[in-house]
Amino acid sequence: PLGPKAASQTKAGVPGVTHIVAVASGKGGVGKSTVACNLALALAKQGLRVGLLDADIYGPSMPKLLALSGKPEVIPGRRILRPLVAHGLKVMSIGFLVDEQAAMIWRGPMVMSAIQQMLREVEWGELDILIVDMPPGTGDAQLTMAQNAALAGAVIVSTPQDLALIDARRGVAMFRRVEVPILGVVENMSSFICPHCGGRSDIFGHGGARDEARAMDVPFLGEVPLTMALREASDQGEPIVVRDPHGPEASVFMDMAAQL
Ligand code: ADP
Repeated sequence: PLGPKAASQTKAGVPGVTHIVAVASGKGGVGKSTVACNLALALAKQGLRVGLLDADIYGPSMPKLLALSGKPEVIPGRRILRPLVAHGLKVMSIGFLVDEQAAMIWRGPMVMSAIQQMLREVEWGELDILIVDMPPGTGDAQLTMAQNAALAGAVIVSTPQDLALIDARRGVAMFRRVEVPILGVVENMSSFICPHCGGRSDIFGHGGARDEARAMDVPFLGEVPLTMALREASDQGEPIVVRDPHGPEASVFMDMAAQL
């Protein structure tokens, strides 16, 4: 689906960046940031030059997920920021720039201008793909971003649960409204594999996102299992694709990357 860059693109892109891909969800807590981070790493493992923009202003996750701290330096004379680097990814997050409490109370226009700055006033350099971890939901900030950022496409993350799926449907509708192609739907927390007995439990159900993708006529990109290993890796700042590159979770992300 991510072919060569469209020549007739009217929205403003980011110079040097071939494709901007949003990772979005209709609501918070479904694992959008987890997917964005591991998908970015999986794309980098394919040999692509990848950037990761944490636009989840109200709950930036990348500093913790990638164990990144410190302030990005301002490039002398150019008034742009140098992204931080983790596992070969160039990363920018509002979490590097302001303290979390401050951004929590920003109104829409502040959020939008912060996202615009992180897109355009950062030295992304030459990238094949810039993955954007969107703020959850389908409000103004998301719509503006989808409208203005020359997105090549969007990946929608959902759990298998009915409620999350309703929100995922809203997400798909929002991107369709602004003519951003849906690259696919990911089912996260798909099933739980017990680390003791190896048995499987479908805690949030199973297969709902695949069915929903079919009903909406969009690609289905895979099922990420709910596992302790994934959660621990994330909490410890070493994403599962890096920690256990041949494990069951990483292989889902590698497959996903191959489909984009
Ligand atoms: P969102 O970005 O949608 O708010 P996060 O990616 O921050 O969600 O995930 C929410 C929490 O769930 C985090 O603690 C994360 O480590 C955990 N989590 C997400 N996906 C999985 C999974 N497949 N297995 C285990 N834990 C997960």
